[in-house]
Amino acid sequence: MSFTLAIVGRPNVGKSTLFNRLVGKRLALVDDQPGVTRDLREGQARLGDLRFTVIDTAGLEEATDESLQGRMRKLTERAVDMADACLFVIDARAGVLPADEVFADILRRRSAHVILGANKAEGTAAEAGVLEGYALGLGEPLRLSAEHGEGMGELHAILMPLI
Ligand code: GDP
Ligand code: MG
Repeated sequence: MSFTLAIVGRPNVGKSTLFNRLVGKRLALVDDQPGVTRDLREGQARLGDLRFTVIDTAGLEEATDESLQGRMRKLTERAVDMADACLFVIDARAGVLPADEVFADILRRRSAHVILGANKAEGTAAEAGVLEGYALGLGEPLRLSAEHGEGMGELHAILMPLI
């Protein structure tokens, strides 16, 4: 049985960019507009010698429409239930937002293994946001740059004992 990692988090944090980096094909939509990807997408990830299934999820739409929020939440919960571990991505440049707390709550209740990824961590503009990540109570934030490929070795080291 294949190990499955779900990438979850609010829109625009870089989930699809990370998915594309792991899968190596542009299966997921990447867009500058928040909330463009609204489905679950599954791909076969390669990270060094590791092979696993990865799921890219839509995030919690920031719109005030409650039914849409509910749908996004359900989609995230579905992905979490399908997965052996979750990579919860925050935007280290934006810091921890209220929507991030919603995801942290879902993950604390439903997921056995949560890896907290602080994405967009290249450069120094992200340092404060990375530190804010500790307050989510999900352990040490893993500094990632999906766009520049930083943090992939550390992600490999975290996943290796799980797979
Ligand atoms: P998603 O909504 O969470 O799937 O986020 P996307 O993958 O669509 O990315 C949203 C935006 O963040 C895009 O403009 C990406 O180019 C940008 N982005 C993704 N990863 C990084 C990163 O590591 N550093 C920076 N600076 N931008 C990133
Ligand atoms: Mg996306």
